[in-house]
Amino acid sequence: MTDTILIVGGGVAGLHAAKICADAGAQAIVVEREPVVGGRLAAAMSGDEAIGNRAEGAAIPSLESIASNENIELLPIASFEALDGRPGNFTARIRQKARFVTDACTECGLCRAVCPVVLANEFDAGLTYRKAIYAPLPETLPAEWVIDIDNCLNTPPNYLPCNRCIDACEDDAIHFDAPLETVQERPVGAVILASGFRLAEQGNLESLGYGSHPDIVTSAELQRLLESPGPTGGYATRPSNEEYPDSVLLVLDSVSAYALYVVASQVNQLLAQDVGRVALLLLAPPPKADSLADAERLIEEAGIEVRHGAMLKVAAEEGSDVEVSFEDTGTRQFVRETWDMVALCSDVQPSEGTDRLAKIVGAELDDSGYLNGEPVPGVSIAGCAAGPINIKETLESAERAAAAALDCLDPRLLNEGYVPSEAEQPAPADESADASAGESAEDDDKRRQIESALYALLGKR
Ligand code: SF4
Ligand code: SF4
Repeated sequence: MTDTILIVGGGVAGLHAAKICADAGAQAIVVEREPVVGGRLAAAMSGDEAIGNRAEGAAIPSLESIASNENIELLPIASFEALDGRPGNFTARIRQKARFVTDACTECGLCRAVCPVVLANEFDAGLTYRKAIYAPLPETLPAEWVIDIDNCLNTPPNYLPCNRCIDACEDDAIHFDAPLETVQERPVGAVILASGFRLAEQGNLESLGYGSHPDIVTSAELQRLLESPGPTGGYATRPSNEEYPDSVLLVLDSVSAYALYVVASQVNQLLAQDVGRVALLLLAPPPKADSLADAERLIEEAGIEVRHGAMLKVAAEEGSDVEVSFEDTGTRQFVRETWDMVALCSDVQPSEGTDRLAKIVGAELDDSGYLNGEPVPGVSIAGCAAGPINIKETLESAERAAAAALDCLDPRLLNEGYVPSEAEQPAPADESADASAGESAEDDDKRRQIESALYALLGKR
């Protein structure tokens, strides 16, 4: 028997499940494909005021609490490749790529200054640039820097021996002689799949006008602008001129729980930043319900406009504004307006490799390609791997997954006094999260109000 649980995915669901398992006395191995953990909520987990730490009072684990937990082992830039055995006694095969930067790294940044390769920083929604040797963001876990070996000049197909970073590094922290990959086989008693989802390709957003004007942004970019560690310090300034917008339109064609949660949070944050006019354009017909008055009143009270429309065009207008033309499907009128900023909300898709994960553990997929949640012995699912859900639901599903995984272990290997059913209860918030939830209770209420009204307007609840 082993006391170890494998968690595939180091986003908020995976880390929350890992912390519950670790606190119960199990060893948690978190396999994450990116060089850092935290996923979309890494900013919230580093203690800043992003959407995540206002998850209806639920406790999102801080990166510090993960880093300091001796029972949690993080394996970044890694993938889960195979599983043999049975619940309580599996062997998992994990492949991990090299970082090429060792623990000797002091994060001084000297290497960044000399690296000639400049790339869009995908960890900053592409709003800033990074080098081939980089730290994805400040305050990440792990903190060590990493070399993007696929884009480094030292490796094929770019082979132009460079080594500028090695010459600049005063701490001897860069070693290109590390093996490109290592494979390890680990005994694990249970597996939690927390592989999340990804934003849909930008192709359909380009057909709506994305890329034609700097102030037409994606919801991921808007989110990054609204996060205090983001490139504008948490203010949604216009990318074209760095001025505060007077009007922002959010265009939403996905009505998943996650999308509504994100949009409601963003609307709330924009209103809190005194943006004069905030509106939502929902690319879905209004529901044929008689009782929308309450929802409309809630939206009106929140100070936002909501329209249902068929989007025709978002484009740059002469000057610096963005012109939006659409058919209002409520009034059947053709509408043409100008906005300072337009955010196009991306749809979401199953995370890349979800089908491969399903094959490894013998799980089934639903019609959309998410894990369908049918029970597989010894394997549980946390968060959006089974379809997009909001943050509170994500945390709850992580708690259920952790409880199920812990049930696969011999209780004698866990902390004395651990009672499996307790893990199904909401995890107690740590003090900082309590304080954060208390300070933001008003914001949270307002976000919930907007979210509920959006559900009603879309005929979802
Ligand atoms: S060797 Fe690679 S990472 Fe180092 S400076 Fe050159 S391109 Fe950048
Ligand atoms: S120069 Fe060396 S120590 Fe400094 S950040 Fe780069 S790898 Fe780390």
